[in-house]
Amino acid sequence: PVFKETYSPLSSSELVAKEKSMMDEKRFAHCVRVSETARTLAKLNGYDEDKAALAGFVHDYAKQIPVEEYIKVIKEEGFDPDLLNWNRAIWHGIVGSWFIKRDLGITDPEILTAVYRHTTGDVEMTTLDQIVFVADYIEPGRTFAGVEEARKTSYADLASGVGYELAHTLAFLVQKRSKIYPRTLAAYNVWAAE
Ligand code: GDP
Ligand code: FE
Ligand code: FE
Ligand code: FE
Repeated sequence: PVFKETYSPLSSSELVAKEKSMMDEKRFAHCVRVSETARTLAKLNGYDEDKAALAGFVHDYAKQIPVEEYIKVIKEEGFDPDLLNWNRAIWHGIVGSWFIKRDLGITDPEILTAVYRHTTGDVEMTTLDQIVFVADYIEPGRTFAGVEEARKTSYADLASGVGYELAHTLAFLVQKRSKIYPRTLAAYNVWAAE
């Protein structure tokens, strides 16, 4: 991919190379597809397509950073110590935005917040937050039961896509008896509950 503006001191090719160096090929391909899906959702919702494409591209930048590095950063950089009771599934958004700022030099608050919120959602979500959250869920590589309905719902109405995703993710986590991160539940109550 090529980005017109990287919101960072890095050029597009430097940024792409750095992202590639952080993850395996499957994860990288997912990030490219999320970027393209984010661009489509941006176009449908009157949002800056290039910015959405970049946010989608970097959303999982930190997904494969070693757990030990996360623990060190959470302890040393002033993160809520409760994060230590969770795992990389939760960390790579919240702490991932910190790694993106450190490594890619991206400081744009909209991009950083979209990464921060991309796994759990949040009570308040900007248009870009919603775009990245939904693009991650419906990108063409996703194959779970219900993904076609998720796509249809999201392309018809972005906020309804957020609600669909939160309801289905919560049901999936409960069925696995996974711990629910409080912010995921709070987001569900706002975006999905009747
Ligand atoms: P990915 O990074 O592209 O795989 O997707 P996400 O960042 O959206 O999600 C990463 C993982 O976190 C998925 O397996 C989600 O089901 C999981 N997840 C999302 N919310 C919660 C939560 O509240 N609790 C737990 N335990 N896992 C969650
Ligand atoms: Fe993710
Ligand atoms: Fe997601
Ligand atoms: Fe993702």
